[in-house]
Amino acid sequence: MIELKTPKEIEAMKPAGRFVGSILRDLRNSVKVGTNLLEIDEFVHKRIMDRKGAESCYVDYAPDFGTGPFAHYICTSVNDAVLHGVPYDYDLKDGDLLSLDLAINVDGWVGDSAISWVVGTKQDPEDLRLIKCTEEALAAGIDAARSGNRLGDVSCAIGDVAREYGYPINLEFGGHGVGRIMHGDPHVPNDGRAHHGYKLRPGLVIAIEPWFLKTTDEIYQDPKDGWTLRSSDGSRGAHSEHTIAITEDGPVILTTRD
Ligand code: MG
Repeated sequence: MIELKTPKEIEAMKPAGRFVGSILRDLRNSVKVGTNLLEIDEFVHKRIMDRKGAESCYVDYAPDFGTGPFAHYICTSVNDAVLHGVPYDYDLKDGDLLSLDLAINVDGWVGDSAISWVVGTKQDPEDLRLIKCTEEALAAGIDAARSGNRLGDVSCAIGDVAREYGYPINLEFGGHGVGRIMHGDPHVPNDGRAHHGYKLRPGLVIAIEPWFLKTTDEIYQDPKDGWTLRSSDGSRGAHSEHTIAITEDGPVILTTRD
């Protein structure tokens, strides 16, 4: 069921969004070559503990697409891993493509956001192009998230950017409704038909999250941890996500990083 939020509820969601955004911003500024993925996880754990009313959406999360409850505070996906990456004992290397995905509940409302970048100085132009594509697709999706448009317009705007860049699109995992819980209706696929689907209206809050792999749309679940989704051909992936609210005045990003 798709739930619409009142303007007051959207206001109440802002602290969660800003908290998630501030943690991702701080990690973007501090993670470097040699940082261990478990340190990133511990950083987020500490931030959540220090914030009154904050609770991880990930710890003990046990949906049907994972194996058993998730036991960490953030998803860290490196290189051929693109979604749901379980942090493990790994020191980041120069040139690694890192994607962080973070969802936190603050005072009963969830914010969900993801960012990708290349760590260190070995910046492969192909990696940067892939990341730029997910960021542009996210911006295009947000811009289409306007009252009177349809959900297919958001999906199509995302898909058009991927097509322009020549990247394949996986339709299984995409955006979703956000509110009291992390994953709600509607599903927001990363491609679709313009002018089709649910009619967007003020009060709809969704996470828009384009993620693409360079040369495939196929993923597999890493049997070692039962969660991390990797590309079937070893090619790298990138992921950009914001939680946004559709208002009378257009889309508002709740997970800003400023
Ligand atoms: Mg997310």
